[in-house]
Amino acid sequence: MNKNPYRKDFPLLLSNPMAYLDNAATAQRPLAVIEAEAEFSEKYNANPLRGLYELSVKATECYEAARETVRRFLNAKEACEIIFTNNTTQSINTVAYSYGLTNIKAGDEIVVSIMEHHSNLLPWQMVARQTGATLRFLECEMDGSLNEARLDAAFSEKTRLVAIAQVSNVTGRTAPIEEIVKRAHAVGAVVVMDAAQSAPHMAIDVQALDVDFLAFSGHKLMGPMGIGVLYGKKELLEVMPPFLTGGEMIEYVTREGATYAPLPHKFEAGTVDASGAWGLKAAIEYLENIGFEEIERRELELTKRALDGLCAIPHVHVIGSEKAEEHCGILTFTVDGVHPHDVSAMLDADGVAVRAGHHCAQPLMEYLGVRSTTRASLFFYNTEEEIERFLQSVRELRGRMGYAE
Ligand code: PMP
Repeated sequence: MNKNPYRKDFPLLLSNPMAYLDNAATAQRPLAVIEAEAEFSEKYNANPLRGLYELSVKATECYEAARETVRRFLNAKEACEIIFTNNTTQSINTVAYSYGLTNIKAGDEIVVSIMEHHSNLLPWQMVARQTGATLRFLECEMDGSLNEARLDAAFSEKTRLVAIAQVSNVTGRTAPIEEIVKRAHAVGAVVVMDAAQSAPHMAIDVQALDVDFLAFSGHKLMGPMGIGVLYGKKELLEVMPPFLTGGEMIEYVTREGATYAPLPHKFEAGTVDASGAWGLKAAIEYLENIGFEEIERRELELTKRALDGLCAIPHVHVIGSEKAEEHCGILTFTVDGVHPHDVSAMLDADGVAVRAGHHCAQPLMEYLGVRSTTRASLFFYNTEEEIERFLQSVRELRGRMGYAE
């Protein structure tokens, strides 16, 4: 029996009987997104932003309509503050190469949390290396929480940039972004918020949060792979140099140099992924039609069931909070005596897809004292039956490995 009314919208979930619990890696796509991408190919495909003929104008309109949808989704002030990239990684690299290398100097400090995905760590290691700035780590408690004392220890008058994920892809915990922004702005630092894990699960208002830059990926939000978003405050983006140079991002080119196109095109060099943007627009509209209230309610119910179930299994240890509402659908765990790759392989044999490894957060793994872990991550389209199948498989793991209990 299937009581989830949204499953019918996802062709892959209808045709594939597995319990897909790797949503933090990438989400499945509803028919509306698949059809939007096909619609672009069938009706609007031309190189946008270049041609003056009707089809190219139409392609440009699709692309700019998608930008406006993202602006509304994030409540950004202006559409020119929305830059399309390939993914979160490219968005953060744009800020690192463009803002970081020009505004950060030797002796400055960059604060990153110990929980960052490598995508929000390596670009800052690069900036620190190239500028002579110091990378300071904002450390968390063992349950992934950040407290006042930790914030006090990380920030100083020298802090110029803070890079932080709103939701950790390992613990699922939400960081106190308002408090971090307040502290950063008090010392004149900017905040780069990685919204890869939060944007699919909670409403984000960039003006209310007052973050300076924000990054997310379309594919984790049921959109296509290869389209991502960088939001930046207009006054910052306007004075930043371009990250990539070439076609589309110029105003005028001479033998010796060039002037750049105004925002947002200055940061969108080369032919853009208009079809991906059109697909992302459909994904955001699909999400908005359901509403975050409904999404959060469903995810919390499933997360509670999964967390309670995991905590009741001997030899299973869940990383992060004891409260389901502090997991954002992410449950990372270890099983005594069973390597996460074996956990994942045995779950796969039972028709359950989860992630095993370091989850691109090796410094956090080291900090928590674990080599690797297994991560189950839920979305609103998962069902109670899938959670039960997952739990039953975990219950049987150690027995299958030959442990007596
Ligand atoms: N940040 C976080 C918190 C993530 O979970 C991920 C994806 N696992 C990324 C960044 C990178 O996203 P992408 O690979 O789409 O660039």
